[in-house]
Amino acid sequence: MKILVINCGSSSLKFQLIDSETEQCLAKGLCERIGIDGSMITYAPEGGEKEKNVTPMPDHTEAIRLVLEALTNPRTGVVGSLDEIGAVGHRVVHGGEKFAESVVIDSEVLAAVEECNDLAPLHNPANLIGINACRKLMPDTPMVAVFDTAFHQTMPEKAYMYGLPYEYYQKYKIRRYGFHGTSHSYVSKRAADVLGKAYDDLKIIVCHLGNGASISAVEKGRCVDTSMGLTPLEGLMMGTRSGDIDPAIMEFLAHKEGKDIDKIMEVLNKKSGVLGLSDNLSSDFRDLEAGYHEGDANAVRAMEAFCYRVAKYIGSFVAAMNGVDVICFTAGVGENAPIVRTFVCGYLGYLGVELDQEANGKRGEDIVITTPGSRTTVMVIPTNEELAIARETVRLVK
Ligand code: ADP
Repeated sequence: MKILVINCGSSSLKFQLIDSETEQCLAKGLCERIGIDGSMITYAPEGGEKEKNVTPMPDHTEAIRLVLEALTNPRTGVVGSLDEIGAVGHRVVHGGEKFAESVVIDSEVLAAVEECNDLAPLHNPANLIGINACRKLMPDTPMVAVFDTAFHQTMPEKAYMYGLPYEYYQKYKIRRYGFHGTSHSYVSKRAADVLGKAYDDLKIIVCHLGNGASISAVEKGRCVDTSMGLTPLEGLMMGTRSGDIDPAIMEFLAHKEGKDIDKIMEVLNKKSGVLGLSDNLSSDFRDLEAGYHEGDANAVRAMEAFCYRVAKYIGSFVAAMNGVDVICFTAGVGENAPIVRTFVCGYLGYLGVELDQEANGKRGEDIVITTPGSRTTVMVIPTNEELAIARETVRLVK
């Protein structure tokens, strides 16, 4: 079955068409600047040339129409007609407490997702717009929602409750939800498969380090804790997000800088993390790594603080699970920055971690990067959220 995977943001839309039998990506692309002047679609069939077209996209329905047109284009398309697309899998950011698993989309599900909009006001409305646009153009094609939060719904209460008045949980469902769940689930399962061990027997820590970064503790195949919270702002230091800070800093800054809460949130989401800490050198680890090797104090400061925070979280999740068997690195930084893995593993002597530097230098494959004698196994597992969404979609529509 051919599955269209859609990841819809407020002004962008990423897509992939995946053949579920071979698990190959047949085509992928991106619509940018939807509803803004200068919208463009990038489309690339597997093994073919990437095409970029600037074309008006006043709304998401038009963006999806262009995606479907590209996929069925007689010259560069990869399907003869839309009938060949068996189902659509949609990434949905927030499923609140309502969705502990992926679901087939119907009007009841849409209403329930809408009820989670308050929890993710930037993301969920955009995801819903994408789903509705797709339903309009492909009314008879089954669709599935795969939630970023679902995998983390197995966390125990002690891990998801904040030390706040309980009434806020009762009234507003304020609690830790966690994100990147599709990736944490895919990577932890894949690690067990690659090692030839039973998923249910392992204690796994997954470090998803991309521009957004989160870490999770997976015990016997169930997530028991994760670093992101009610929103993706909590936890690790990220490209531009602060991660954990003393909440009183917000009040302090508001007074000193004369900023309102929206401005403070913008600082914490867009101007902080390694970008802010490197005094605006970069949020990109390629630049930070280059700066680090040149001895640039801004790059050194950001790199060291980032890796230290990851190591600290690993320690806390070792405590949460009373041990760890496997630590996995994934996503843009986790997969591509050996220096980050080296620095983080440098803190893990107490776990008997012995890095194999040659393996740590490789890229683009599922690989163990510790020596055979290492007491804890450390791996790099490239994440594939689109494939995970396609698998979930097939599982539910078959
Ligand atoms: P997201 O999905 O959160 O946008 P990704 O997982 O795609 O992020 O990660 C993007 C980040 O990965 C970039 O900002 C950059 O810091 C890092 N990255 C990508 N390639 C490399 C590389 N070759 N070396 C170091 N870091 C890299």
